Amino acid sequence: MSDFAQYVKQQVDIVKVIEGYIRLRKAGAQNYSGLCPFHKEKSPSFSVHAVRQFYHCFGCGVSGDVFSFVGKIENVGFPEAVRIVAQKNGIPLPKREFSSPEEAAEARMRGKLLDLHEAAASWFEEQLRGPEGALAREYLAGRGMSPEGIKTFRIGYAPDSFGALRDRLSGMTDDATLRASGLFSSKEQGDGTEGRIYDRFRKRVTFPICNESGRVIAFTARTLETGEKAGAKYINSPETPLYTKGQVLFNLDKAKAAIRQAGYALLVEGQMDCISLFLRGIQHVIATSGTAFTEQQVAILKRHTSNVIVNFDPDAAGGNAAEKSIALLTEEGFNLKLVTLDGGLDPDRFIRERGVEAYTQAVMGARRQSDYLIERARQMFPGGAADQKLKQMNYLLPHIRRIPQKLLREQFAADAAQKLGIDSSVLREELRQAALRRRDHVEVRTTALTEVERVLLRALAITDPEHEEARRTAIDAVTRQPHWLEGLGVFEALRALGDRGARDPMDVVEDPAQRALLAEALLAETESPSADTVLGAIGSLQQRRIEAELREMRVQIQEAERRGDYAELAVLTQRKLDLDRSLRQLRGSGLSGN
Ligand SMILES: [Zn+2]
Repeated sequence: MSDFAQYVKQQVDIVKVIEGYIRLRKAGAQNYSGLCPFHKEKSPSFSVHAVRQFYHCFGCGVSGDVFSFVGKIENVGFPEAVRIVAQKNGIPLPKREFSSPEEAAEARMRGKLLDLHEAAASWFEEQLRGPEGALAREYLAGRGMSPEGIKTFRIGYAPDSFGALRDRLSGMTDDATLRASGLFSSKEQGDGTEGRIYDRFRKRVTFPICNESGRVIAFTARTLETGEKAGAKYINSPETPLYTKGQVLFNLDKAKAAIRQAGYALLVEGQMDCISLFLRGIQHVIATSGTAFTEQQVAILKRHTSNVIVNFDPDAAGGNAAEKSIALLTEEGFNLKLVTLDGGLDPDRFIRERGVEAYTQAVMGARRQSDYLIERARQMFPGGAADQKLKQMNYLLPHIRRIPQKLLREQFAADAAQKLGIDSSVLREELRQAALRRRDHVEVRTTALTEVERVLLRALAITDPEHEEARRTAIDAVTRQPHWLEGLGVFEALRALGDRGARDPMDVVEDPAQRALLAEALLAETESPSADTVLGAIGSLQQRRIEAELREMRVQIQEAERRGDYAELAVLTQRKLDLDRSLRQLRGSGLSGN
């Protein structure tokens, strides 16, 4: 680890950094826990040690320090992770050092693309304020957008030009990077080469799309043209090294604090809906941007909350995307409620026409997902005829089966039977089966550690000079009597810790399985073991070792008796007496641990 990385690690708190990504709850004197972002789970097995500054997941076994966490979750290499952590904590970066030329090139490219997007966002904002932006300003005012709102969301205007942004940005970097930015288009030439680039967004109102840290990584842009020339109402940046569609939740950067405070997220479809609600004080709102939720988006959201109130557009297209999103969220164990707004209005129009109060009321009145779906089944297949009831049921059954929690499935099935007036015993049985079908996923948390192993691991990981005696005692045992320890499952970890010197315990154990065991021991520690406790642990190991030898000795003595080998028998008996005496001494000293 470079000096700079070491410095950053000392400066930052891993708990704070991880809390920027997932929710953590205090789980003990020095540790926090939450849902693991690296594997699917319903109950938290992910822990962070606040004092030792590492994380460990009891479910999937990942562990490491702040850089390893950020690297994994942001899917970047070590240098980039160091850079991100430093940046988030306001630590100025030194001249970059990278482990490979590819990594350096990638980081350089990302950096340049971020710079280009930042420059483009500022320039679009400028254009909106300028003479060319008049029509756009008019449009935004017509949608009830205040100047503060425009500033908050950095809304801008891309003028009616093919080369204005290009000319503005071309001095910043080379042609290849400009092409990679997604801010420009080009046409393939007759000879198969790409033609000159031109501005992708023209005569459009621009809305920046930001990553979780609030940096602009893409744009969505609404046309101001009407009639045939208009083209698509909205166009978006294509996928670039910065931006992957389906991996970004619109407005999460601004909403995440409010989501945690409110205890749930309000999910809407359109970016304008989202902006409109946010600016009127409903700040825990995020948008899917008109498409169905993706698994990555679900995973991202899960880091912040598991409660969602969905307020999608009531139109048919909205209905389908909404259903896919609802299905996905249900499967992932989210608590879902759904809002339907009066008069078939979208959230933006509703809040503008009826006010914040009325909207808040509507959200408070959100229906449970089961009620919403039962109602929808009734609307889709109206009437009480037997074949309609069958269709209603067929619509509901997959939704019921998808719910991970058995109690909720049972409740849903009972509600459906009652509200739809299902009196056929066959259909009731089907509902019952649907409720039974999915078994709760039980996280089995086995611990592979014995008490002795735990004590030794903790003693060897002591960093506090006050407890140095306990650590010395354990080091003595590891270096002088390694054969006592050979049978232990954590032997490798103990050996590595035995000569770690002043290095961080979690850094010296390289094998991931061994490190996971160490993490487990350290996460459960309340205080460092005393030297006596360590002696006790070593004593009980010694005792086990002697007992094993005694068992072996008895077998050999029997053998010798059978063979009539009295010379051998005398040696073995003497040895057995010695072992007996050691064992008695050990027990008498109280160091055997039992
Ligand atoms: Zn995990």
